[in-house]
Amino acid sequence: MTKYPDREWRFSQEDWLKASRLTAGGVTFLLTLSASQFLQGRLLGISAASRAATLAGMLSVSTGSMLASWAADEAPATLSVALGWVPEKDRRRKGGVIDKRGTISSSTFSLLGYDAGKKKERLLGAARTALVGMLLFKGLGGRFSGVAPSNVAQPGAFFNVRGTLPAGLEYASPKQKRRLDMFGWVYGCHTCGRRQMGDYVGDHMPPRKVAVEMSRRWWRRLLGIRVKQRFTPQCRPCSSIQSAAVRSDRRILVYHYLSLRRYHATGAVLEVVSLLPGHGMLDGLIHQNVGRVSTWWRRKGRAEGDWQ
Ligand SMILES: [Zn+2]
Repeated sequence: MTKYPDREWRFSQEDWLKASRLTAGGVTFLLTLSASQFLQGRLLGISAASRAATLAGMLSVSTGSMLASWAADEAPATLSVALGWVPEKDRRRKGGVIDKRGTISSSTFSLLGYDAGKKKERLLGAARTALVGMLLFKGLGGRFSGVAPSNVAQPGAFFNVRGTLPAGLEYASPKQKRRLDMFGWVYGCHTCGRRQMGDYVGDHMPPRKVAVEMSRRWWRRLLGIRVKQRFTPQCRPCSSIQSAAVRSDRRILVYHYLSLRRYHATGAVLEVVSLLPGHGMLDGLIHQNVGRVSTWWRRKGRAEGDWQ
């Protein structure tokens, strides 16, 4: 039998180390978001419709990105020591992660990586990680307020205006129901995120009671504005929870730990970005501009004479 050594593919040591980065980054980001959802709901009482939800979400995503990057930096060394590829004493080598054989240099997104770099560099790295993480999260279709749990009687964590229909006071017509089922399939139940084939309820958002109250505000009455309701897909279990909540006038939050979307992979994608060949260029560009801004700032300060 002829052998094709060139075509033989096996998972090399370096591949394992890269995979460990991706896994550690991905899992850490996801865990941070879940922890944030729990804390926001149980401790702070924030829901996706709360005003504080966007800020809380931004904090969670940036923290998650930084923790993910830190975990990713730790993973290759931990794996190498665990598998005996590298002796324990070499674990904390200056300048980054294990070189010699499984060469993976310290991530440019590195937050605390191995005493590498100065404090300023590390802070800059952390800020950059947070920023890139937030951009990625948005780019992958995430909404910061959607990190929080859903208040069952308000637009939920998976609420998307594109997945809604104008609504009157009546229930959804059969034709509207078919479209809402399609929206549900695409965006999921707006409260819990569950995706299924059909059987969605056309949920009035904002709820009738809230819409009437909002329309009664003096300035809306003055301007003749009536708050318009829209139909948004909601699954039956969430719909019954909502009915119970509205009937008893209680605030009920629904958690959505297992409804995963593309943007939940931000932590892993961050690592993919850091492994790209062109990544160094992007990094250089950011560095250069940060340098430029700080030089400009210093010059400006000197000109004004308040920087001694
Ligand atoms: Zn649901």
